[in-house]
Amino acid sequence: KKSWLSRLKAGLAKTSSSLTTLFVGARIDDDLYDELEAALLTADAGVEATLFLLDALKKKVKEEKLTEAEQVKAALKTLLIDLLTPLQKPLILGKHQPMVMMIAGVNGAGKTTTIGKLAKHMQMHHQSVVLAAGDTFRAAAREQLAIWGERNGVTVIAQESGDPAAVAFDAVASAKARQTNVVMIDTAGRLPTQLHLMEELKKIRRVLGKAMDTAPHEVLLVIDGNTGQNALAQVKAFDDALQLTGLVITKLDGTAKGGVLAAIAKTRPVPVYFIGVGEQIEDLQPFNAQEFVDALLN
Ligand code: GDP
Repeated sequence: KKSWLSRLKAGLAKTSSSLTTLFVGARIDDDLYDELEAALLTADAGVEATLFLLDALKKKVKEEKLTEAEQVKAALKTLLIDLLTPLQKPLILGKHQPMVMMIAGVNGAGKTTTIGKLAKHMQMHHQSVVLAAGDTFRAAAREQLAIWGERNGVTVIAQESGDPAAVAFDAVASAKARQTNVVMIDTAGRLPTQLHLMEELKKIRRVLGKAMDTAPHEVLLVIDGNTGQNALAQVKAFDDALQLTGLVITKLDGTAKGGVLAAIAKTRPVPVYFIGVGEQIEDLQPFNAQEFVDALLN
């Protein structure tokens, strides 16, 4: 059985090989920098982060009088770790009773899977969990969550129809009454046309504040690591609307374009609590900049 780290490495292999091979036997000249620029852009690091990294790298090469391509690669590695380290932040449990978490993400990003893995993560840390099926628009989403809850001994609060904010409110009330440690609120990833998703989500956020003064304590966005630059647009839009506290980046075991983390770090540095590298519980791992860059540039 492959470890999660090897799945991450496999996922980043494409990005990794184009970044690594360009250094092999290379001379340190404009060609090398051009190739690196192209590789970073292809990996979806985005223009800002790419130019930032290139500038910083050129400066470093000059200041440290680097002469070998391998040294330049090592310098790039250090710069990437420095860029990504601010994104590394653990999700801290037990600060609030209950801890109220709202979980957003567009359909298909891996939100339901992530909620399942997170709930198990909480249980392993001796936290009881209640889930709120806040996607009241998709019956399938509600049913999926209910089945999952039953299988894992997690209470799921759902309503046949109606207002997602009311479901969220109920879940917090229930958690207070039963002294449940964590409330996780699933939300819709897309709405039937006329309604505006962000308005809907903002309302849930407001109502949570009415259910408990300090809530929500965490507002997470789940994004698919393969959506490239669009992931960045999602982070910006959801952060503007909801003041995100953290991200979960899924599917980094797939044909991932790992560069998107650099783009996020440079333009909208919302902490990355976890990365997803598969469908199993152990495939949700805390983000670690050093590990990630080691997988990217080895
Ligand atoms: P939602 O629509 O956002 O709730 O997305 P789902 O949780 O239903 O996930 C969509 C698909 O992505 C499913 O087939 C999941 O099994 C898959 N998925 C979710 N997270 C990961 C991951 O980290 N790695 C891989 N390979 N697949 C994932």
